[in-house]
This record gives sequence, structure tokens and C-alpha cells, in this order.
Amino acid sequence: MLKFEAVKKETSILDTRAGGARTVIPSEVRRDPLTGRTSRICHFMELKWQKPDFEKMIEGTQSWCPFCRERVLQVTPLFPPEILAEGRLTRGDMVLFPNLAPYDSLSAVATFGDRHFTPMTEFTPAQVAQAFGLAQDFFRRVEDAGHPESVYHLVNWNHMPPAGSSLIHSHLQVFATSDAPNLLAQELAAAERYRAETGRVYWDDLLAREREEGSRYLGARGRAHFLQSWAPLGVAGDVLAIVEGVSSTLELTGEDLLALGEGLCTAMKACDALGVYGFNMNFFPGKRGDRHARFHLLFSPRTFFNQALGTTDVGALRNLYNEGICMAYPEEIADRLRPFFAG
Ligand SMILES: [Zn+2]
Repeated sequence: MLKFEAVKKETSILDTRAGGARTVIPSEVRRDPLTGRTSRICHFMELKWQKPDFEKMIEGTQSWCPFCRERVLQVTPLFPPEILAEGRLTRGDMVLFPNLAPYDSLSAVATFGDRHFTPMTEFTPAQVAQAFGLAQDFFRRVEDAGHPESVYHLVNWNHMPPAGSSLIHSHLQVFATSDAPNLLAQELAAAERYRAETGRVYWDDLLAREREEGSRYLGARGRAHFLQSWAPLGVAGDVLAIVEGVSSTLELTGEDLLALGEGLCTAMKACDALGVYGFNMNFFPGKRGDRHARFHLLFSPRTFFNQALGTTDVGALRNLYNEGICMAYPEEIADRLRPFFAG
């Protein structure tokens, strides 16, 4: 059944900085209740980072930016007619076009509109809902066309260089694939086993437990519930959003997209207060008809450990073992974020 397992550990050192005094440093290995994937809560530090001089960072990047209004319709590619007769999709000033560096055969990029640089505090729920809606427009088109890759409808968001973005201009990675990426595939397989064994949906049970227990729960917007992950992947924890009653991306209603936008904008404001200015966000949907799945997404703050050197927060442990490292207890991070969600 659903268990929150943690193994507490201690490291003893003689700290020369404190005259050789014996110092005990705690750490914890947590197991994800669904997949068994482990994360370490360790390297405790205050969750406080320095934001860079944004003006200096973005200086000069606008003159060549392919997503700015004066270039986006000239330099970005078009889908061939068998996929999209009109070549690109738009909603307002947002544009969706093929990814020049595709992740899969149906791989698109969607811009957030004309604005070149949008700090995390300045995204609006309506804007996020509109961008997700544009991604859904693309997914509906390939679904209606019966494309064989129209199985998992995925949206990824890398915001700013610490999160892996090579462009300042805000955009989404939008792709449909019959091959679920690793963690999504592991989750779906485990959730299918859970349903076979219990007759219930793991994510519904998780949400009920988290709401009752309360220490990681942040709040709800519509059918979307926001909480801190028990076993996070990110160094400053992960915000998990679960949408009640929804299994796949195409089932999300306009109200759901707005609710997700509200929660994500709140999470961005809360992370900005920690000095974080980048994040990853991924959709984790089932495919249509997956009764064991619930649509959820992860929002994971990203930061440079050393701004001047550009030191990434993903090192060998996370990259090659896929072991999460989080630098504070998720419950404490939830306490920091919860006031933002209360508003
Ligand atoms: Zn731009």
C-alpha cells in the first residue's frame, strides 16, 4: 500500500572550523511511494540564492532572438501539409512551429508571445493557460489526424539558462510520442500495478493522504491540487500538481489550464522570493483511456550553485544515478511556499 519510507542517516565529523568539535550532520534517503525511486535530503543550506543582473544577462540577446516578433514568422520552420496545412498554429501573439531539434517525430516549440524576457514574477495565469491551450490545439490536430505518435501529449518548460534553456525568450517544448520518457513510463507501469492490486488510482490515494497529513500540501485551484513531492528530484524541492478526475492531456478543460496557470504562477512567485529565477516543468499524463493514470505535472526550481562559474545544480549523482538531491526537508519548503498559495 501507499507508504512514505525514509531512512535517516547521520555523519559524524571532527570539525576543524569549530576547534575539532564532534559534529553530527543528518541526512535522509526517501523512497517514492509509487516507483521506489530514491531521493536524498542532504547538503542542508538556507534556500537563498542570488539573482543575476538580468539587464546584463539579456543584453544583446534580443537582436538575434528567433522568437521575437520581427523574426518568428520568418525564421522558424513550418509543418508539412500532412501534419498542419497552415504550417504553424497561433493563439494571440503566441506561435507554435516545428522544433528544429526534435525530440521525436512530432516535436514543436510554442512561444509565450512577443515579449522577449519574462521574469518568473510576471507570467499571468491566463498567459500560461493560453500557451498550454496552444499546445493542446496541436495535440488535437495530430490526434484527429490519427497520427501514430499521438499517444502521450507532453509539454516541457525550461525557463532560463539554469534550467537548460539556451534562449531567454520564454517558450515551451511540445511533443507527442508513443514512447513515454523514462520516469513517466515507470510511473505509469507502477500506477497500473497499483490499480490491479488495489482497484484504486494511486494518485487519488496519494492526494487524499497528502491532504489529510497536510505537511506537504499547499492548496488547490479548481480541480488542480498543489503539494511538495515527498521524494523530490530538484535541489529546492518539486511542486507537484495533480488534476482530479483527469487522465490524459487532452481531457484538461480550459478551467483546468487556468487552474494550473494560477498554481504555477504562485509557485514562480514563491521561488522568486528564494532568489531562484529558473525552473523545469513537465507534464506527466496517461494516454487516453488509462484508468490508472492521473494528469499531473512537476515544477522544479533550478539554480546555478555558482553564478559566476555557471555551476549546474545537476551533478553526477543526479545525472548518472538519477538520484534526487534536495537541500531542505520538503515539509520545510512547503512551509515557505504555503503563504503564497493561501492568497
Ligand atoms: Zn526574443
